[in-house]
Amino acid sequence: MSSDLESLPGVGKELAKKLVNGGYPTIESIIVSPPKEISENTGIGFDTVLKIQNAAHEAFNVGFKTALEFYERRRQMLRCTTGSKRLDEILGGGVETQALTELIGEYGTGKTQLCMMLAVTAQLPPEEGGLGGNVAFIDTEGTFMPERIYQIAEARSLDPNKIANNILVARAYNSNHQGLLINHLFTMVPENNVKLVVVDSMISHFRGEYIGRDNLAERQQKLNMYLHKLIRLAEAYNIAVVITNQVQTNPAQYFGNPIHPAGGNVMAHACTHRVMIKKGSQGTRVARVIDSPYLPDKQAYFIITEKGIEDTPEKK
Ligand code: ATP
Ligand code: MG
Repeated sequence: MSSDLESLPGVGKELAKKLVNGGYPTIESIIVSPPKEISENTGIGFDTVLKIQNAAHEAFNVGFKTALEFYERRRQMLRCTTGSKRLDEILGGGVETQALTELIGEYGTGKTQLCMMLAVTAQLPPEEGGLGGNVAFIDTEGTFMPERIYQIAEARSLDPNKIANNILVARAYNSNHQGLLINHLFTMVPENNVKLVVVDSMISHFRGEYIGRDNLAERQQKLNMYLHKLIRLAEAYNIAVVITNQVQTNPAQYFGNPIHPAGGNVMAHACTHRVMIKKGSQGTRVARVIDSPYLPDKQAYFIITEKGIEDTPEKK
């Protein structure tokens, strides 16, 4: 796959420069972005953007593929261990590549812990349950702790400097910045052999910035756009994408469970596998697959330890 913008018919030096400066450095980033957004960010006229996008689609042969081609692609899928056999089991063998996995839970349930654990295990070779690649970690809440990476790596007899050196961390300061970082992934994932992308948390900036009913539609539209970019990224580069999400309580609901994942339908539809994490008794955590195209609705207990994530000593 060539990402060279100037290889597109009709895109010369000048246009390529505008695209790069506007945050669209690769053909992939053009394919997955709405034309209106590209036009606004680059100053290139809307009609020209449409032409560039058509050329980009042709360059990548975006369209029909045979089921055999799809099957071959699915066979390249890898699974990353969480450190807990039981949790891996309910995920069908670990966190999948070519998919978007969403970890949902209240504060302190272990979402960030699981993300940091995966940032270590993703670096293991596939025969040891890893993805054999590096990690890009977008931290929106300032909770990524390098000390914890060192602790997990040391406890697993891995070289902590080497592990830490292969995790590229970016702190996103607002939703717009988060979006720019997501766009940038289309360049840095292939350049840095990234096999796992984490966005922890996907939604907190959006919830904090777009407050009230009047802003809900715009918030959901933006969220949707970035989620789809992440799916495209997972599929295009055969990588795992893990995002975290919070829960919200609906006080107006009298029947059933009033606790829901935040982000509404947009989040529910975009994510391939949704995993809800809750606190169990005696410090355990219970994870449950609540929505997936082929994984059954099952739950597994795990614990958070010095080694990261592990199985509970005995079944609870
Ligand atoms: P939030 O929604 O606030 O981001 P979260 O789901 O990301 O919450 P984490 O930060 O992943 O929650 O989990 C924090 C919990 O992890 C702590 O309450 C603690 O129980 C556990 N924990 C953190 N570090 C360790 C460690 N080194 N050993 C054992 N348990 C740990
Ligand atoms: Mg967290």
